[in-house]
This record gives sequence, C-alpha cells and structure tokens, in this order.
Amino acid sequence: MTAPQSQRQRCALCQVEIDTSGGVDQVFFSSGSSGTRSKLWGRVCQYLKTDEQKQQCINQDPNKRGQKQPGDYYEEVPAIELGDKPPGTNTAA
Ligand SMILES: [Zn+2]
Repeated sequence: MTAPQSQRQRCALCQVEIDTSGGVDQVFFSSGSSGTRSKLWGRVCQYLKTDEQKQQCINQDPNKRGQKQPGDYYEEVPAIELGDKPPGTNTAA
C-alpha cells in the first residue's frame, strides 16, 4: 500500500525518508521533526566516508540541497580565549 500522492525515497544509510512530492523536498528524520535536504546533509550525509556509501545516499546532489540555512549544521562553538591574552594587552602603540 502506497499513498498515491506521496513520493518518498528512503535513504538506508541516513535512516531518513525524503518526500519529493511537493515543490520542496521534505526530509523526515527517524526522530525529531522534519527538515530540509540541507539539514540532512549538514547533520548526516556529509560524514559519509566511502564512495560506496555516497552512492547509496540519496542526498549527495548539491543542487538539490540548495543553500544551507542557519541551524542546519550543529553549532560550532567558537574558540574561547582562555584568558592568557586579555583583549588589549598585545596592542602595539
Ligand atoms: Zn543520505
């Protein structure tokens, strides 16, 4: 039984389903809310290592991913200066 309007592809590697029936592809993660291909890429697909894996992944097309959006990727914590050089101490006059 398949819903006629729904076109879902399943990425066995990433454990997600991508609904391509609408104008915008929707990614359904195994847990949590749905998201975009860009989000899927940022969180999962970019970490695939081997060509074999990449061939199985259905989210390797940069054109389909589009622009990455804020929040797609896990936030990178900016490097914190640990106080060895307080601001202003190394300013040359
Ligand atoms: Zn994938």
